[in-house]
Amino acid sequence: MSVLWVLGAGQLGAMLKHAGTPLGLDIRPVDIESHDTLPLQPDDIVTAEREDWPKTDATTQLASHPNFVNLSTFPQLADRLTQKQWIDKLELATAPWFPVEADSSADYAYQTLGDRVLMKRRRGGYDGKGQYWLKQTEGTDIPDDWKGQAIAEQAINFDEEVSLVGVRGANGETHFYPLTLNLHINGILYASISPLQRLAPLQSKAEAMLSKLMDALDYVGVMAMECFRVGDELLINELAPRVHNSGHWTQAGASVSQFENHVRAVSGQPLSPAEIKGQSMMVNLIGVPVDYQWLNIQGLELYWYQKEVRPGRKVGHLNFCSNQPDVLQNALQTLTLPAPYPEALDWLSQNLP
Ligand code: ATP
Ligand code: MG
Ligand code: MG
Repeated sequence: MSVLWVLGAGQLGAMLKHAGTPLGLDIRPVDIESHDTLPLQPDDIVTAEREDWPKTDATTQLASHPNFVNLSTFPQLADRLTQKQWIDKLELATAPWFPVEADSSADYAYQTLGDRVLMKRRRGGYDGKGQYWLKQTEGTDIPDDWKGQAIAEQAINFDEEVSLVGVRGANGETHFYPLTLNLHINGILYASISPLQRLAPLQSKAEAMLSKLMDALDYVGVMAMECFRVGDELLINELAPRVHNSGHWTQAGASVSQFENHVRAVSGQPLSPAEIKGQSMMVNLIGVPVDYQWLNIQGLELYWYQKEVRPGRKVGHLNFCSNQPDVLQNALQTLTLPAPYPEALDWLSQNLP
């Protein structure tokens, strides 16, 4: 049987492997720093858990395999400049922006985008790292090392943040999960909840947007689209050509998780619409040690990534799925986590139907 290689051996790679195991698929995440000679066979398949990677022994071997799915798409979405150009080209709504060039000035940014402008590094940013606010009232200037390296975006005064996770097969068939409502604190995802009846009116619009992108890129696998909801409108914040943190709830709450759907799509197995099992929520574990007493909480599923705990670092997540509202509310009352978790748990509690 052919092997499905995953470029990257972080938690996403581990969860892809975990999802493919019951299907009997041989999934092998590869540490990008590995110096091993990989026993790649001609009918093996390669995918990635990350959109951007350095040139290493391991990535060079994987990227030269002819069956690397979406290989040409990764650099286009990994660079925020070309990602924004794709969104504009397809006439999809996004925060107004311009590329930060050698001669760009803060004055130009304030004139064109308003008094609060968010610069984002073109490559490598995640969890809100690689962002820099320009504020006219504070007279902020563009630091030299951001010139040519960033895009500038208008600050969006959004109502809330939602995301759509979809999967596309090589034959062009697509399936989508219900929209997910996300809470970011300081640029990092803390909690998600899905499905929500009140977001249902936006579902078909969101699906049309992500379909247009996946079709234009002839994309195969799972892609996530992060959006700002402003009234009835959705503005695309960013795209991730991979499984996504805001889709982790599907491990507990859908008959086919985003991880299994990605594995199925890239390995050419049949796709089918996932059955949604109940009300789901997800809490990211950020910079907190594991506490196995959490397992006493009804409805809780723990994913611990076995990484060293550091402040601000994602080290695990908790999934919950139930059809009993009391079970979910009780779980939120029982969980004790340090600041800023009380805010995140309260947000979940308020958003539960
Ligand atoms: P991720 O971990 O999701 O990959 P990232 O570092 O790539 O994050 P973004 O998703 O672009 O960064 O931004 C992180 C968060 O910062 C957003 O979820 C949102 O809360 C806030 N943000 C981003 N862009 C804007 C904007 N134009 N206006 C207001 N807030 C924004
Ligand atoms: Mg990002
Ligand atoms: Mg993001």
